[in-house]
Amino acid sequence: NRMSLVFSGQGDALRLRQVFGSVQRFVPERRPFAFIAISAVGASVCEALSLIFITLVATGLAADKASTEVAGVTIARNTMLAAAAVLLLARLALMWVNVRISARLAAEGLASARRALLHALVSSDWQRQSRQPPGQLFDLLSSRADIVGMMIAIMSAMVVSGANLIILAGLSVALQPVAVLGLGVVGGILAWALRPFNRLTRKSSKDLMVASEAYLEDANDLTHNLRDLASFGSGPAFVAASDAHQVRATRAYRRTRMLTSILPQIYQTLGMALGVAGLAVAALVGTDDLAVLGAVVLLLLRAVSYGQQLLSSTQSVNERAPYVASLIELIDDLDAHRQTGGPEVPAAPAPLSLQQVGYRYEAGDGRALNAIDLELPEGQMLGIVGPSGGGKTTLLHVLAGLRHPTEGEMLVAGVPVGRVDLAWWRSKVALVPQAAGLMTGTVAANIDMLRGLDPEQLRRAAERAQMERDIENIGGFDTPLSRHAQALSGGQLQRLSIARALAGDPEILLLDEPTSALDVATEERLSEVLESLRGSVTMVIVAHRLSTVAACDRVLVLDKGRIIADGPPSDVLDQFGRTGVSGWELVEDPT
Ligand code: ADP
Ligand code: MG
Repeated sequence: NRMSLVFSGQGDALRLRQVFGSVQRFVPERRPFAFIAISAVGASVCEALSLIFITLVATGLAADKASTEVAGVTIARNTMLAAAAVLLLARLALMWVNVRISARLAAEGLASARRALLHALVSSDWQRQSRQPPGQLFDLLSSRADIVGMMIAIMSAMVVSGANLIILAGLSVALQPVAVLGLGVVGGILAWALRPFNRLTRKSSKDLMVASEAYLEDANDLTHNLRDLASFGSGPAFVAASDAHQVRATRAYRRTRMLTSILPQIYQTLGMALGVAGLAVAALVGTDDLAVLGAVVLLLLRAVSYGQQLLSSTQSVNERAPYVASLIELIDDLDAHRQTGGPEVPAAPAPLSLQQVGYRYEAGDGRALNAIDLELPEGQMLGIVGPSGGGKTTLLHVLAGLRHPTEGEMLVAGVPVGRVDLAWWRSKVALVPQAAGLMTGTVAANIDMLRGLDPEQLRRAAERAQMERDIENIGGFDTPLSRHAQALSGGQLQRLSIARALAGDPEILLLDEPTSALDVATEERLSEVLESLRGSVTMVIVAHRLSTVAACDRVLVLDKGRIIADGPPSDVLDQFGRTGVSGWELVEDPT
């Protein structure tokens, strides 16, 4: 994407026009922007004309004349007063329209940017999602959510200030060409000389953004580790460590505030100085028309104040540009990792066939999986054991289609997994992860996971997952659960996660150490459930206890990303039960 290249490659060369272009991505209509410009110009003309009438009345009063001659036409004082009043009302009406449109666009920009970010996030694949640090995401969705809306509001304000500046200055030129043009040239040179401020502002604002994201990352870490920090008494040490990020953020914040506030002040002073210089010139040259001089001074003073507003807005844009760039970069990167399926619906989700599959994590060195050849026939119950870090979870993620082999390929009933229809695949395969999470919602909603399953299905799944009694104890299916309150024990959460998987009636069930937190009795009952699925559901069970894999049709031993044994449980146990691999032994069943 061209826009994101501009932002990331040459952030400092970023122009206003590019910021505007990028904001338009969220509010694609062009017509409202045209209305904003037209109403702004109309309002400026009204303001300029009313200012002229006001000076004419004022100078007429000073000279004690009831009417004034303007361009050969004599106009009565009362007519001019009425005209000024009508023009001011017209200006208000036009600005009303202007502000309404800009407020609507800003609100649309806010909503559409948020939606675009969330949509890009859920549409990206798990490999990308799992790498996403939450800090940046939270920042853009919460405190910076209105960045696009703010930009649109600032842009409309800039159109208004710009139109006023041009029209007021233009009128002054028409009334007093030589002096005003001279002042304009001097003012233009000064504004040009102040340009480095823009770059400085953008840079310090970007520093602020980066430091704040690091700080948010800390906050996120903190909330997830409060219990352990409390138990080790290391909370204060955590705060002290994260203070480095806070110091950086504070420094960048001070610099940004200073730069955004001082520039308009400098400009204001220069503008007033130019006014004084103009009057000095007029005094030297001498002027015969007091009305014209008065009008020019008034118009120029108003022009200076619009110029100041324009500059303030420019600084606001500079301050916010890094956030818009960061938003767009994130959306583009997520889009570049969009999860893609294919058009094909294989005859069945099994057999699965892995051919020379390797997997390399972006962050990791070396392969988590290496030259895996595996045929998983339909209906088989496969156990996977091996030392921690051996690649079991990675292999399950590959089988689930959540991670794509970085070498070799996986076939689903003969079809390369990349060509398989994703919606179909997701409805057939269920993964019970090593550590499940809760969503804010009822027990039922937590089992349903927004799939729209019917309540009877949810109830049956809970029953099969040995969860019914627990659900009764905590108050039924409609009891609200929260991600934060630890409403469920580890074992309950594990069974909730199994209920989630079973509720969709999967044809392939992948379980990642599903019984590690269960007591022996519950595990035995769960084994019976898995037993009842034998043959009709293809199962892959990663487990520690022999009792679980001993019931499997076949057991793999995975070590350092390679399959080092593959056969019936009894053979594998004979081979590894006592000797162990890499200091690891199959844990003997305690019963
Ligand atoms: P197991 O489930 O057998 O304990 P994993 O599949 O989780 O093992 O991990 C296999 C290897 O891949 C380990 O060396 C681990 O450090 C590495 N790994 C796992 N997840 C990631 C990740 N998200 N990024 C980088 N490396 C990872
Ligand atoms: Mg694991």
